[in-house]
Amino acid sequence: NRKFVLAERPKGEPDENTLRLETVDLPTPGKGQMLLRNEYLSLDPYMRGRMSDAPSYAAPVEIGEVMIGGTVAQVLSSDVTGFEKDDWVVAFGGWQDYALSDGKGVINMGKSPENPSWALGVLGMPGLTAWAGLTQIAQPKKGETLVVAGASGPVGATVGQIGKILGLRVVGIAGGAEKCAHVVDTLGFDACIDYKAEGFPDALKAAVPDGIDIYFENVGGAVFDAVFPLLNTLARIPVCGLISQYNATSLPDGPDRLNQLLGTILRKRMTVRGFIVFDDFGPYYPEFAKQMGDWVKSGKIKYREEVITGLEQAPAAFIGLLKGEAFGKRVVKLSD
Ligand code: NDP
Repeated sequence: NRKFVLAERPKGEPDENTLRLETVDLPTPGKGQMLLRNEYLSLDPYMRGRMSDAPSYAAPVEIGEVMIGGTVAQVLSSDVTGFEKDDWVVAFGGWQDYALSDGKGVINMGKSPENPSWALGVLGMPGLTAWAGLTQIAQPKKGETLVVAGASGPVGATVGQIGKILGLRVVGIAGGAEKCAHVVDTLGFDACIDYKAEGFPDALKAAVPDGIDIYFENVGGAVFDAVFPLLNTLARIPVCGLISQYNATSLPDGPDRLNQLLGTILRKRMTVRGFIVFDDFGPYYPEFAKQMGDWVKSGKIKYREEVITGLEQAPAAFIGLLKGEAFGKRVVKLSD
């Protein structure tokens, strides 16, 4: 059994010393446990937070402990009611080939799910995040303008496509012409603005002639700076993630604009609400899964996945994810 453990807490960007590959014996399942062979490992931005011991909503991974991660796995043997050999499951099996589980929080997908790895993306945690953040927090009304950052990623792509289904004008923000073309041509957004291109704030302004009613925040930083002046009275801002800041080691330079920000939130009567998907919306999973399953099956929601082969590739693939190298949902296929 190969596993990646946290070797040291990164300062700034994680690097090749952050995680260490170890080879250990295959774990032996005890009473009430099952043995899982991980087939796919999900790579997600939140993992950067777990590498750090700064205060957060969840405990950090300890030094020497296996790195946390969502997995799609097959059951090799089971003493857990409701799970049998050869079932496909969604679990938090971590960055390793094999894992033990007592079945808590594990979802059984049966013996032959279609596209099992999609349960780590559009049909799983990122999909629920998109669906819940948009429908439950932003509560969109037909005809409103939605702007979503990280528009080609698993959360952003799903937010925007749901927005189109609900009758919104949807403008994405993404890095680079190729990602933006995908967001408009394949995902069906009304427009997508490249935040790395010159004149980004003006291009964004031109794309939202009626202002912005909902801003689904995935990135923070310079993108938020461009969005903020364009927000309408009574705008809603689900604060989902701030990926531009995850590797930051200090506050940005410049004048303190906190009171200006709060003043505008007050005058425009905005709703700004942060959320943690499973803490806030875990019980919505069955409703989400049915709805999203139908949308994906009927082709109303499209999904792009990037499969990287080999557990040993996972650290580099994760470091690249934080830098914007992923195009679609990044998963690691562990064995051939
Ligand atoms: P993504 O694949 O969208 O995240 C990676 C992308 O972020 C990159 O491809 C890049 O896209 C973009 N990015 C990286 N750095 C920057 C930057 N400096 N400025 C702007 N964009 C940047 O990830 P997910 O869809 O999985 O997650 C999206 C967000 O949602 C993340 O912030 C994540 O932490 C958050 N999240 C929150 C949850 C919650 O419960 N609150 C649950 C799940 C996710 P590009 O090339 O376009 O720059």
